[in-house]
Amino acid sequence: MSENFSKLGLSAKVVQAVNAAGYTEPTEIQEQAIPHVLQKSDVIGIAQTGTGKTASFVLPMLTLLEKGRARARMPRTLILEPTRELAAQVHENFEKYGINHKLNVALLIGGVSFGDQNKILDKGADVLIATPGRLLDHFERGKLLMNGVEILVIDEADRMLDMGFIPDIERICSLLPPRRQTLFFSATMSNEISKLTSRFLKNPQKVETAKKNLTAQTIEQRLLKAGSKPAEKRSILRDQINSEADLNNAIIFCNRKRDVATLLRSMTRHKFNAGALHGDMDQKSRMDTLAKFKNGDLKILIASDVAARGLDIPNVSHVFNYDIPIHAEDYVHRIGRTGRAGRSGKAFSLVTPADTKYLEAIETLIVKKIEWANNKEKNIAETSDNIPKAKQAKKPTPKHNNQKNEASDHKKHEASNKPKHKKAAVINNNAASKSSPFGNFGPTPAFLLQSAAKPVKIEK
Ligand code: AMP
Repeated sequence: MSENFSKLGLSAKVVQAVNAAGYTEPTEIQEQAIPHVLQKSDVIGIAQTGTGKTASFVLPMLTLLEKGRARARMPRTLILEPTRELAAQVHENFEKYGINHKLNVALLIGGVSFGDQNKILDKGADVLIATPGRLLDHFERGKLLMNGVEILVIDEADRMLDMGFIPDIERICSLLPPRRQTLFFSATMSNEISKLTSRFLKNPQKVETAKKNLTAQTIEQRLLKAGSKPAEKRSILRDQINSEADLNNAIIFCNRKRDVATLLRSMTRHKFNAGALHGDMDQKSRMDTLAKFKNGDLKILIASDVAARGLDIPNVSHVFNYDIPIHAEDYVHRIGRTGRAGRSGKAFSLVTPADTKYLEAIETLIVKKIEWANNKEKNIAETSDNIPKAKQAKKPTPKHNNQKNEASDHKKHEASNKPKHKKAAVINNNAASKSSPFGNFGPTPAFLLQSAAKPVKIEK
């Protein structure tokens, strides 16, 4: 079993850790990228999320790091990640695959005190995993010297581009020794991304495991016709969740953070075991929620796009797009949370009449027509009947906001790595509505419901 990994040139310590993780063979990206990394070549890796991309750089880095040792404030390797969650996840990967190594792995992300991070840097970091902003903050405070970096990893480069991090990355590259190895990973490859590779890499080896921008074959994708009223959308969403017999857990994506909060309140009222994840939450709440979702305490995660990329949440059975994403590439990343590493998964997207052009852009990008689920022919008025009339009358029609402006507003907030300390409101489930959540599809399975009277935190 271990031969599959050792024949790639990985050290015995790494192969042993990989076996302990239960992997029997390398994934395609690992098979292709690892030998190049071990030969110290620059590498461009194009791989869909969930293909084992993280291990494709973590495993050979561990092998290479076995020679040499770190000096105070001079990290030997640097991994740049666009979000705190991704950085934390790569850190977890080093813990998992580095069980046989005594390496000092430092995580520099916003929302964590500078003092604690300085202590780790002072000890000398073999691996430094950072978001670009926080890394530059440390550098400017004189706590960090970057001229000892032997390997630079730029992960999720397309996301970095979207979030406006490229100038920071250019600055960071100018502080690193020119004779370094650079590994560059992106889930998608646009012309803009190829231009970046020519600036940051030297004679790179290109490895590509999936066709440009395609979604994994293991994901069953369906569209759900919806009206534009939020209450209708929520009702359709609940019905679909209740009708999915094989639903184990789910991520529901919203385009706007405030809709994440509204939907969470509604799902909680309907007694679903749900939590929220978005860019305005403080770091601790984000990590706590993610940990609960990973260990199964939370069954439904309602998220903004900050959660869409690269997060390694094994066995997510379903993804729901409560809103069709405005940027077609976000669709690929969102639904990539399911059907990971060859497993099967389902992705449902609610489509309102105003979403037609965004849907077309997605279908053009993935070169595929997405099928409608069986409610295609359903009259939208029919779905309105699921909502009690009294409630419909009370609800004011939501103001129609300009979707583009909101999207760029959303991007701007998500891109911010500065923690925003917002007060969390606590909703007591005891006070939750007693109305039936069951829609047309029968009762909500018990495991999707909240256990009695646990307080649910909502970031306001
Ligand atoms: P990633 O694309 O790095 O987010 O990895 C996706 C998932 O695949 C993670 O849960 C990894 O633990 C898992 N994984 C990575 N490499 C392998 C492998 N060789 N065999 C099975 N699972 C793997």
